[in-house]
Amino acid sequence: MKTLTIKQPWAYLILAGIKDLENRTWKTNFRGRVLIHAGAKPANFKPEMENQCTAQEITIFSALNHAEENDLFGAIVGSIEIVDCVRNHPSIWAEKERWHWVLKKPILFKKPVRNVKGKLSFWESGVEVCHICGQPANVICGDCGEYFCPRCSAPYIQVTDYDCCKKCEQYKIK
Ligand SMILES: [Zn+2]
Ligand SMILES: [Zn+2]
Repeated sequence: MKTLTIKQPWAYLILAGIKDLENRTWKTNFRGRVLIHAGAKPANFKPEMENQCTAQEITIFSALNHAEENDLFGAIVGSIEIVDCVRNHPSIWAEKERWHWVLKKPILFKKPVRNVKGKLSFWESGVEVCHICGQPANVICGDCGEYFCPRCSAPYIQVTDYDCCKKCEQYKIK
């Protein structure tokens, strides 16, 4: 699936539904869901004045703590829908002289896909997501080509040695 590398704590803030856009120097025409890969190193973030953090800076620091405690670096940590790309977005997260990629419907992975190296721009990670719940997939139906996670593929009707696909009700899951 199409993947975008974003540094922490921005990756976590986006997937937690707190940060509603991504600031980039370049415009994108892509619309749709992409995987979010959290970079191996955090963003270089410094508060403007020490000991006098704004509410937004406190949010940023707690997100960075969360990312460090859960080791959310160098991993694919969720997915997001890119719905627009504009200038002068009114969000508190919008930075000046940047393109604002408007993001909706974040899905945070319960189990990140770890030890993945990031790349610039959009890239293909080979990771796919379950078409039912959006979590990382481990099986694909050989008939309809839909992906399933371990949880959504678990309650298949056992008819033969194969499991039955919930979508097309065929008996082939690879
Ligand atoms: Zn699922
Ligand atoms: Zn199927």
